[in-house]
Amino acid sequence: MNEKTWEEVDQYFTAKLHKKDQMMDEVMTANEKAEMPLIDVSPSQGKMLHMLVKMKGAKRILEIGTLGGYSSIWMARALPEDGSLITLEYSEKHAEVARGNIRKAGLEDKVKILTGAALDTLPSLKGRKFDFIFIDADKRNNPHYIKWAIELSFPGTVIITDNVVRGGKVTDSRSSDENIKGVRAFIDILSDSDLIDSTAIQTVGTKGYDGFVIGIVKEG
Ligand code: SAM
Repeated sequence: MNEKTWEEVDQYFTAKLHKKDQMMDEVMTANEKAEMPLIDVSPSQGKMLHMLVKMKGAKRILEIGTLGGYSSIWMARALPEDGSLITLEYSEKHAEVARGNIRKAGLEDKVKILTGAALDTLPSLKGRKFDFIFIDADKRNNPHYIKWAIELSFPGTVIITDNVVRGGKVTDSRSSDENIKGVRAFIDILSDSDLIDSTAIQTVGTKGYDGFVIGIVKEG
């Protein structure tokens, strides 16, 4: 098995199971034009997030890590009329591109971008509660992000975190890579927590070998 096979299989399923989506194609084109890094979720992962939001019946979404708004748009399109999404982005440039994409998708009334380091903008959300949280920013800060996610949640909140496998390197306890260290410290927090139930799913596809942690905040 190699990356070429993973990509072909991903493309096969996307071609078969996704309807032609001009809006999402335009978002990808706009991101390419703006020379954004190719680190957004894949189409199948975006649709998975969309479907999870629907399954949960989520109304208040928090995303940490906007990039060009690709995952934001997938999730926001699953919201009901009175739903909303707040997404946090460090880079002014990324936020600007995302704003354009969100406007084009007709979602500017539902989606708000807070620009700045997430650890600086998260305190402004204190007191709010979200029923769906997607963590996808700088992995070194994942231990902080999961603490904030729990603070901004209530029983039943779904918390999804991307890029937790990192090509398998997550098991390297001696890694000096800040991202691996961040993911491992984040996993330790979940492992020790009585507040959240979680599992991890490894993924392969157009984005290589990685994975998601899926968590749900417990009752009581
Ligand atoms: N969720 C996006 C998607 O799938 O379309 C991809 C997000 S990308 C993996 C990570 C984003 O997090 C980048 O745009 C990066 O600028 C942003 N980021 C990095 N460090 C950050 C920080 N400290 N606070 C907020 N955003 C940050």
